[in-house]
Amino acid sequence: MTTNRTFTMIKPDAVADGHSGSIIKMIEAAGFKIIAMKKTLLTAERAGQFYQVHAERPFYGDLCGYMSSGPIIPMILEKENAVADFRTFIGATNPEQAAEGTVRKLYAKSIQANAIHGSDSDENAAIEGSFFFSETERF
Ligand code: UDP
Ligand code: MG
Repeated sequence: MTTNRTFTMIKPDAVADGHSGSIIKMIEAAGFKIIAMKKTLLTAERAGQFYQVHAERPFYGDLCGYMSSGPIIPMILEKENAVADFRTFIGATNPEQAAEGTVRKLYAKSIQANAIHGSDSDENAAIEGSFFFSETERF
Protein backbone atom coordinates (compact mmCIF):
# COMPACT_ATOMS: atom_id res chain seq x y z
CA MET A 1 0.00 0.00 0.00
CA THR A 2 1.31 3.46 -0.88
CA THR A 3 -0.07 6.52 0.85
CA ASN A 4 0.82 10.19 0.66
CA ARG A 5 1.23 10.57 4.41
CA THR A 6 4.07 10.26 6.90
CA PHE A 7 4.48 10.78 10.63
CA THR A 8 7.13 12.91 12.35
CA MET A 9 7.93 14.29 15.76
CA ILE A 10 10.27 17.07 16.75
CA LYS A 11 12.26 15.45 19.55
CA PRO A 12 12.90 16.85 23.07
CA ASP A 13 16.34 18.34 22.34
CA ALA A 14 15.12 20.40 19.39
CA VAL A 15 11.98 21.57 21.22
CA ALA A 16 14.00 22.52 24.33
CA ASP A 17 16.57 24.40 22.23
CA GLY A 18 13.87 26.51 20.57
CA HIS A 19 14.22 25.04 17.07
CA SER A 20 10.55 24.01 16.65
CA GLY A 21 9.55 27.06 14.64
CA SER A 22 12.52 26.82 12.28
CA ILE A 23 11.93 23.10 11.71
CA ILE A 24 8.19 23.55 11.07
CA LYS A 25 9.03 26.34 8.60
CA MET A 26 11.46 24.00 6.80
CA ILE A 27 8.84 21.23 6.69
CA GLU A 28 6.25 23.50 5.05
CA ALA A 29 8.79 25.07 2.69
CA ALA A 30 9.70 21.55 1.51
CA GLY A 31 6.09 21.02 0.44
CA PHE A 32 4.72 18.95 3.31
CA LYS A 33 1.21 19.90 4.47
CA ILE A 34 0.54 19.64 8.22
CA ILE A 35 -2.52 17.42 8.73
CA ALA A 36 -2.25 17.10 12.54
CA MET A 37 0.09 18.64 15.13
CA LYS A 38 0.33 19.06 18.91
CA LYS A 39 2.84 19.53 21.73
CA THR A 40 2.84 16.69 24.25
CA LEU A 41 4.98 14.73 26.71
CA LEU A 42 5.68 10.99 26.51
CA THR A 43 6.12 8.94 29.66
CA ALA A 44 9.09 6.57 29.52
CA GLU A 45 6.58 3.73 29.25
CA ARG A 46 4.83 5.25 26.23
CA ALA A 47 8.18 6.10 24.62
CA GLY A 48 9.01 2.42 25.09
CA GLN A 49 5.81 1.43 23.29
CA PHE A 50 6.55 3.78 20.40
CA TYR A 51 10.07 2.35 19.97
CA GLN A 52 9.06 -1.26 20.79
CA VAL A 53 10.76 -2.44 17.58
CA HIS A 54 14.10 -1.42 19.14
CA ALA A 55 13.44 -3.14 22.51
CA GLU A 56 16.38 -5.54 22.12
CA ARG A 57 18.85 -2.85 21.03
CA PRO A 58 21.50 -1.67 23.55
CA PHE A 59 20.38 1.98 23.21
CA TYR A 60 16.68 1.26 24.00
CA GLY A 61 16.71 2.23 27.69
CA ASP A 62 18.59 5.48 27.09
CA LEU A 63 16.34 6.25 24.12
CA CYS A 64 13.19 5.89 26.27
CA GLY A 65 14.70 8.17 28.92
CA TYR A 66 15.66 10.78 26.34
CA MET A 67 12.32 10.69 24.50
CA SER A 68 10.45 11.28 27.77
CA SER A 69 12.83 14.02 29.01
CA GLY A 70 10.75 16.91 27.67
CA PRO A 71 7.93 17.92 25.33
CA ILE A 72 7.81 16.68 21.76
CA ILE A 73 5.81 17.90 18.76
CA PRO A 74 4.23 15.00 16.81
CA MET A 75 2.76 15.70 13.38
CA ILE A 76 1.08 13.90 10.49
CA LEU A 77 2.27 15.26 7.15
CA GLU A 78 0.97 14.93 3.62
CA LYS A 79 2.86 15.13 0.33
CA GLU A 80 3.29 12.93 -2.71
CA ASN A 81 5.86 10.20 -1.84
CA ALA A 82 5.78 11.50 1.74
CA VAL A 83 7.64 8.70 3.57
CA ALA A 84 10.69 8.52 1.32
CA ASP A 85 10.87 12.27 0.66
CA PHE A 86 10.69 13.05 4.38
CA ARG A 87 13.48 10.58 5.22
CA THR A 88 15.66 12.37 2.66
CA PHE A 89 14.60 15.73 4.09
CA ILE A 90 15.61 14.85 7.69
CA GLY A 91 18.94 13.15 6.84
CA ALA A 92 20.80 10.16 8.29
CA THR A 93 20.19 8.93 11.86
CA ASN A 94 23.75 9.87 12.81
CA PRO A 95 24.10 13.64 12.23
CA GLU A 96 27.77 13.18 11.34
CA GLN A 97 26.53 11.29 8.27
CA ALA A 98 23.55 13.57 7.51
CA ALA A 99 23.62 15.48 4.21
CA GLU A 100 24.11 19.25 4.15
CA GLY A 101 20.89 21.20 4.58
CA THR A 102 18.95 18.38 6.26
CA VAL A 103 17.16 18.92 9.58
CA ARG A 104 19.50 16.54 11.39
CA LYS A 105 22.62 18.14 9.89
CA LEU A 106 21.37 21.53 11.05
CA TYR A 107 19.91 20.68 14.47
CA ALA A 108 20.88 17.20 15.73
CA LYS A 109 23.30 17.02 18.65
CA SER A 110 24.10 13.29 18.60
CA ILE A 111 22.91 9.97 17.18
CA GLN A 112 20.40 9.83 20.06
CA ALA A 113 19.38 13.48 20.34
CA ASN A 114 18.89 13.80 16.60
CA ALA A 115 16.17 16.45 16.55
CA ILE A 116 13.45 14.70 14.55
CA HIS A 117 11.73 11.40 13.75
CA GLY A 118 10.48 10.22 10.36
CA SER A 119 8.49 7.04 9.66
CA ASP A 120 10.31 4.38 7.63
CA SER A 121 7.31 2.92 5.76
CA ASP A 122 3.70 3.70 4.86
CA GLU A 123 2.55 1.00 7.27
CA ASN A 124 4.54 2.48 10.18
CA ALA A 125 3.42 6.01 9.26
CA ALA A 126 -0.20 4.91 9.76
CA ILE A 127 0.58 3.08 13.02
CA GLU A 128 2.61 5.98 14.43
CA GLY A 129 0.03 8.61 13.42
CA SER A 130 -2.67 6.60 15.20
CA PHE A 131 -0.43 6.36 18.29
CA PHE A 132 -0.75 10.14 18.83
CA PHE A 133 -3.90 11.27 17.02
CA SER A 134 -7.53 10.15 17.08
CA GLU A 135 -9.49 9.46 13.91
CA THR A 136 -11.08 12.92 13.86
CA GLU A 137 -7.71 14.61 14.49
CA ARG A 138 -6.25 12.72 11.53
CA PHE A 139 -9.02 13.80 9.16
N1 UDP B 1 19.29 5.78 18.31
C1 UDP B 1 20.27 5.82 19.29
N2 UDP B 1 21.44 5.14 19.09
C2 UDP B 1 21.68 4.43 17.97
C3 UDP B 1 20.70 4.38 16.97
C4 UDP B 1 19.51 5.07 17.16
O1 UDP B 1 20.06 6.46 20.33
O2 UDP B 1 22.76 3.82 17.84
C5 UDP B 1 18.02 6.50 18.49
C6 UDP B 1 17.90 7.76 17.64
O3 UDP B 1 17.20 8.75 18.37
C7 UDP B 1 17.08 7.24 16.45
C8 UDP B 1 16.14 6.28 17.17
O4 UDP B 1 16.93 5.65 18.15
O5 UDP B 1 16.44 8.28 15.76
C9 UDP B 1 15.52 5.23 16.28
O6 UDP B 1 16.54 4.55 15.59
P1 UDP B 1 16.41 4.21 14.05
O7 UDP B 1 17.51 3.28 13.69
O8 UDP B 1 15.01 3.77 13.75
O9 UDP B 1 16.73 5.62 13.33
P2 UDP B 1 15.77 6.64 12.56
O10 UDP B 1 14.73 5.82 11.84
O11 UDP B 1 15.18 7.56 13.58
O12 UDP B 1 16.69 7.37 11.61
MG1 MG C 1 13.47 4.34 12.51
